[in-house]
Amino acid sequence: MSVQVVSAAAAKVPEVELKDLSPSEAESQLGLSTAAVGAMAPPAGGGDPEAPAPAAERPPAPGPGAGPAAALSPAAGKVPQASAMKRSDPHHQHQRHRDGGEALVSPDGTVTEAPRTVKKQIQFADQKQEFNKRPTKIGRRSLSRSISQSSTDSYSSAASYTDSSDDETSPRDKQQKNSKGSSDFCVKNIKQAEFGRREIEIAEQEMPALMALRKRAQGEKPLAGAKIVGCTHITAQTAVLMETLGALGAQCRWAACNIYSTLNEVAAALAESGFPVFAWKGESEDDFWWCIDRCVNVEGWQPNMILDDGGDLTHWIYKKYPNMFKKIKGIVEESVTGVHRLYQLSKAGKLCVPAMNVNDSVTKQKFDNLYCCRESILDGLKRTTDMMFGGKQVVVCGYGEVGKGCCAALKAMGSIVYVTEIDPICALQACMDGFRLVKLNEVIRQVDIVITCTGNKNVVTREHLDRMKNSCIVCNMGHSNTEIDVASLRTPELTWERVRSQVDHVIWPDGKRIVLLAEGRLLNLSCSTVPTFVLSITATTQALALIELYNAPEGRYKQDVYLLPKKMDEYVASLHLPTFDAHLTELTDEQAKYLGLNKNGPFKPNYYRY
Ligand code: NAD
Repeated sequence: MSVQVVSAAAAKVPEVELKDLSPSEAESQLGLSTAAVGAMAPPAGGGDPEAPAPAAERPPAPGPGAGPAAALSPAAGKVPQASAMKRSDPHHQHQRHRDGGEALVSPDGTVTEAPRTVKKQIQFADQKQEFNKRPTKIGRRSLSRSISQSSTDSYSSAASYTDSSDDETSPRDKQQKNSKGSSDFCVKNIKQAEFGRREIEIAEQEMPALMALRKRAQGEKPLAGAKIVGCTHITAQTAVLMETLGALGAQCRWAACNIYSTLNEVAAALAESGFPVFAWKGESEDDFWWCIDRCVNVEGWQPNMILDDGGDLTHWIYKKYPNMFKKIKGIVEESVTGVHRLYQLSKAGKLCVPAMNVNDSVTKQKFDNLYCCRESILDGLKRTTDMMFGGKQVVVCGYGEVGKGCCAALKAMGSIVYVTEIDPICALQACMDGFRLVKLNEVIRQVDIVITCTGNKNVVTREHLDRMKNSCIVCNMGHSNTEIDVASLRTPELTWERVRSQVDHVIWPDGKRIVLLAEGRLLNLSCSTVPTFVLSITATTQALALIELYNAPEGRYKQDVYLLPKKMDEYVASLHLPTFDAHLTELTDEQAKYLGLNKNGPFKPNYYRY
């Protein structure tokens, strides 16, 4: 039997049947070599270590129930696919994409360098930077990281190394060589490589699936001949991904997708180990495009794969070097913004290669949004305010994935949590999870903390802000800085006092003050770290998407946007189970027959919501 992967252009293709596919057939269908997958760490409990088989997936549709995925399932028309519902979320209407693909300028944030620390001292990145009134291009992390960030959203990562020998000379004006004599890179200071290497080693501990992929690469290399040009946040976690791609046989050239997020020491470590990296923290707009250009405009080297986060790299190649697409086999895109652009290109018939939408993979949506926020909300609040959570009254606006994560973390710390919602289904979930569902007006006078997680705009208005009690903390965990009407606080009668990096006191004439965090931008990305393990899930998904597109036989993918086959999502999850010593139950033959499933998966229909 054959396996088909459904594209945006083929809404009526019936659901893929994988039942008769043997594991090895599935593997070869995927284009994953035995060496690339079979020898990877098996899932806990002796689960199926075989390569995933592609399953029919549809790109998310613009409205609930309208998604072609729904049409693929037996329940077509009744139950929309989870990701199709995602695409109808309000935040998709407020993406940070740019008009005509050009960089937009948003009115927030200048960067002010805090005093340098002494040599070799670890310093939190957000202690070094303040983002205040500097024009920025709009556009996440990805949190990835679950969500992807624009090239200029504020972003800080774990620890950042500052060497007192750092100077203000632009890296573009420096002559630097690594220890092997190569100067094919541009980073802040190559001498920071050793410290960056330690950061990468720490990240490796929490990225088990990528490390398993590397072990596999000791044999056959599924990315041999791949020339990957990447544009992502340059952090220790990205470095683990890049070095894994290298171990799988790929050549990589990399630029940063965000002008603030590069960890200079990590970029230096990558350059030292021979990766042409063009990125540093605090690039100018011009630097940003120059770095991207240095990755693609190289004598004697042409990319055949793109890994993008935000769509800027893809856009640059489209604009400057369209002929390169003759050799490019595919694009893997992580962010909401970039995916949106790809769908636009596809709709306009201008997408000239297949693209994988990693943003809407189950392994990203269901893990990044929920677990990332559950793990980082307390960190963001604590680092900025040193507050105690026990007994505090908190209102969380929005009970989607992000809201659920925030509520769970705060409840576990003993906070009294209220929830606001517009959707009765999420509202009922909140009630049944034990939270009081209220209107914001009803609790605004009494709460100690207000957290927005809706992806909507003006959820917290000036009227709410006027009524808050003294010392109320206000912050946002949703996309962009639209949820709190921060602009309404810029009036003459209110005084702004910057008390710490990312912490403003806004003071009313009667002396009341509220504590505004990160000027209403994403709290966790601006003020805390996000868990490496969650990033590992997304990075593994990216690596598998690259392998899949690179090895896919001619014709499997057309010039369209695809979701990763569900079996691959399952595979990514299974690779992370051994960390927990988790023991996965295997279906018996009888059970598999009873449920109508292949023993090796996929285990759920495409519309399943998890
Ligand atoms: P979601 O759609 O699952 O949840 C948002 C919820 O907010 C929905 O249930 C919706 O009904 C509700 N809502 C909308 N308007 C509202 C209003 N005015 N008042 C109360 N509730 C309202 O989305 P999600 O996955 O939870 O993501 C929420 C936002 O967080 C998005 O903008 C997303 O981009 C962002 N996000 C942030 C992170 C992070 O690390 N901080 C990670 C992932 C996503």
